[in-house]
Amino acid sequence: KVENATVKAELGRAAWRLFHTTMAKFPDKPTQDEQTALFSYIHLFARLYPCGECAGHFRQILNKFPPQVSTRSNAAAWACHVHNEVNKSLNKELFDCSEIGDFYDCGCADEDDKKKK
Ligand code: FAD
Repeated sequence: KVENATVKAELGRAAWRLFHTTMAKFPDKPTQDEQTALFSYIHLFARLYPCGECAGHFRQILNKFPPQVSTRSNAAAWACHVHNEVNKSLNKELFDCSEIGDFYDCGCADEDDKKKK
């Protein structure tokens, strides 16, 4: 099969969206189990990402910048940083990580809100 850059970029946008939204919903004060889960998720994401060349490159970035999973804001800032590392290697503009706060919205009701209803 030949490379299709349009499809590859579409996959990338979808994957980044899921990745950053996962961080945005991660607990402020995660339990040890939740931290372990996110750490595994990130490593499995890097192992199983369908674009093999991208995955290999991303694993090198993970080796250099190990996942930060101690709080939501640390996880979100870390994800923004590693995405910027990919942006750099593709000569894309860097994202201002101080703007990450409300950028990724899951569109879902908060679990606490659900309990109140
Ligand atoms: P994307 O980089 O897909 O970003 C989507 C949107 O996210 C942007 O429009 C912006 O609103 C926001 N954003 C941008 N930077 C950040 C940031 N730092 N933090 C938070 N939000 C941000 N493609 C390749 O050709 N070669 C590769 O080696 C490669 N490796 C990849 C590795 C991974 C793990 C992933 C998920 C994707 C990879 N891609 C790779 C795809 C590539 O990163 C882009 O997704 C694709 O080129 C489309 O780029 P884009 O300009 O539309 O924006």
